Amino acid sequence: MIQARTNAPSETGALAAAIAGLARPGDLIVLVGDLGAGKTAFVKGFGAALGVAEVITSPTFTLVHEYRGTIPVHHLDVYRIEQLDEVRDLALPELLDGGSVTLIEWGDRIAPMLPNDYLEVCFEFGEGDDDRTVSLNVLGIGWSSRVAALRAALENWTNESC
Ligand code: ADP
Ligand code: MG
Repeated sequence: MIQARTNAPSETGALAAAIAGLARPGDLIVLVGDLGAGKTAFVKGFGAALGVAEVITSPTFTLVHEYRGTIPVHHLDVYRIEQLDEVRDLALPELLDGGSVTLIEWGDRIAPMLPNDYLEVCFEFGEGDDDRTVSLNVLGIGWSSRVAALRAALENWTNESC
């Protein structure tokens, strides 16, 4: 696990941009954390780094947004999904096969429906209003070869000051 800290939304965006630099078509990123923890802020920074020109907003009601970038981005928010059955309507396997990067807010809620190969990013509130802890877990082989690169990319946020 890689643990990082940010203390402004722009920093969470910059951290996401650093991760986006390592993204490949077909990647899945699962975003975990309470309301207001920074999941959408992460996607905004991630998308911007992939050249998404549109304003990225939370797809809470539409469930999925698609953006054009250097790699296409699918942004899902499954907060409102109550039955795992509803996940079938999202056609996840097709999204994941389509050469895009897929980011799913509240993705832990549909864990049984996910492939077992993804990057999990967990957001937790810290002491100050703008403090967040961002933990990265690599599941499966897709991201495992990139762990060292992830650590290097996130160096700025993982350094503990004394
Ligand atoms: P979520 O999608 O997890 O519900 P959002 O990204 O929509 O959360 O909202 C996060 C909120 O917290 C925003 O209002 C943002 O300005 C604020 N915020 C404060 N500090 C941070 C930080 N370090 N990282 C991300 N967001 C932060
Ligand atoms: Mg959100």
